[in-house]
Amino acid sequence: MKTNTKISTGVIGSDHITGTLNNLRYVRKQLLLALMMLSSLILFANGDPTGEKSTASTPAPNGGDGEYVTQTKETQAKTTPEMAVKMLKEGNERFVNDEMINRDLMEQVEQTSTGQYPIAAVVSCIDSRIPTEIVFDQGVGDIFNARIAGNFVNTDILGSLEFACKVAGAKAIVVMGHTSCGAVKGAVDYVELGNLTSMLDHIEPAIDAVKDIKDNRNSKNPEFVQKVSDKNVELTIEKIRSDSDVLRDMHDKGEIAIVGAMYDVETGKVTFF
Ligand SMILES: [Zn+2]
Repeated sequence: MKTNTKISTGVIGSDHITGTLNNLRYVRKQLLLALMMLSSLILFANGDPTGEKSTASTPAPNGGDGEYVTQTKETQAKTTPEMAVKMLKEGNERFVNDEMINRDLMEQVEQTSTGQYPIAAVVSCIDSRIPTEIVFDQGVGDIFNARIAGNFVNTDILGSLEFACKVAGAKAIVVMGHTSCGAVKGAVDYVELGNLTSMLDHIEPAIDAVKDIKDNRNSKNPEFVQKVSDKNVELTIEKIRSDSDVLRDMHDKGEIAIVGAMYDVETGKVTFF
């Protein structure tokens, strides 16, 4: 019976078997194609580092073709503190070279409507000449901003930075001063005006720390003003570490970067310390 079955199958079903085999090959091919398409979709959705619009580490070099990244949980998770700082550096290079990315901001509003995953937090001055997202060529949902005249930190701003990094996952804090800062000028002249007086007190430690300039310690001395601005950034970073256990711990563990920077109002260039 066994032999008969074999023979009969061979004789009767040879075309049938070939057809079945071809069908099986076809089905297998279709399955492979479907699997390939599915894995591509998953990679795209997860922010494949090789994808054009899905990598947080390598934003498009220029805005000519409108390529940009809207940060997601996945892209933020893949961003290291060093990468976050590099992204801001590259963004400022695009800004000064007039090569800013042409983002669809309303599309980014929609993409970020259910959550935010920014890569960095920037502490900078309220000065109208330094719109943070613009000078770093960032879009909606990319960076936190704490802007206050003289870019210092107090309890409330430290709390905001703790939220940005510990709760919302930002990977870097940039403390950015700027040249010709009116707040620093006001502080070195000990200007007194309403609430401004107590606010400018926050810059006094930087004034006191600049010791190598003995004369003309006022706003008419640009060198002194700049040295106080530089020192103010340095002391602000120290204060972040000394007054925030949360951020110091994250910094010590390498979970965040804390860096200083200076914006030049004449060139648009940000120099990182
Ligand atoms: Zn300022």
